[in-house]
Amino acid sequence: MKQVTLTNVSKTYPNGVTAVRPTSFEIEKGEFLVLVGPSGCGKSTILRMIAGLEAITEGDLEIAGKRVNDVEPAERDIAMVFQNYALYPHMTVFNNMAYGLRNRGTSKAEIDKAVRDAATMLNLGEFLDRKPSQLSGGQRQRVAMGRAIVRNPALFLFDEPLSNLDAKLRGQMRIEIRALQRRLGVTSVYVTHDQVEAMTMADRIVVLNAGRIEQIGTPSEIYHQP
Ligand code: ADP
Ligand code: ADP
Repeated sequence: MKQVTLTNVSKTYPNGVTAVRPTSFEIEKGEFLVLVGPSGCGKSTILRMIAGLEAITEGDLEIAGKRVNDVEPAERDIAMVFQNYALYPHMTVFNNMAYGLRNRGTSKAEIDKAVRDAATMLNLGEFLDRKPSQLSGGQRQRVAMGRAIVRNPALFLFDEPLSNLDAKLRGQMRIEIRALQRRLGVTSVYVTHDQVEAMTMADRIVVLNAGRIEQIGTPSEIYHQP
């Protein structure tokens, strides 16, 4: 089953820059799809259109079988993880993770359980009372993931989530993110300019260049051609 379908989706910004030429691809339910390519090729623009943070200029976007071109971000059942974490500095880890659920009117007991379960899964159980400034980079990234997980979304969107981490931690977090994604079975779109990341993490890769798809395939199809 398809979780996301783009049909001839394009984006021209108001200043006239065409960031994405008419582009079509599909994402299977449960798949971990990586968008890879050099800076400026249109990766973030595609991700932000899927998220509903950026309007589509032309074409159609479907999520879970429903056309969502004009559906607000909050109604798309999506959670996004960014490179700069976007944590609230004055809030504890618990409250950072609970924030999205509080806005939805979930009960206190349900919030408590969802946050504690996610924290356990992410090895953050001991840090729930800390502020983001009292955490390491890897722990902050886990809090950002925890905030996404507790909402139990149908789709995870990652925008270069590891690019602020050192090489060793990056390697470790790649494995953690994939393990968690498999465990939750949640469809994911992951943006990176790093080919190693694409190759080691993806079920399937979309290679972009100057707003166009250059290749689509599994890592072995793309990187080990005869
Ligand atoms: P990537 O994520 O691959 O680095 P982006 O999607 O951010 O690429 O950008 C693609 C192109 O669109 C670039 O030329 C960029 O300068 C341009 N662009 C991105 N955002 C905007 C914007 N808000 N307004 C105008 N141009 C933009
Ligand atoms: P990335 O390369 O990670 O996509 P950028 O540093 O290119 O990010 O862009 C950061 C922000 O600036 C984004 O919100 C993007 O929409 C905006 N932006 C990028 N290029 C332009 C541009 N040419 N004009 C206006 N806004 C832009």
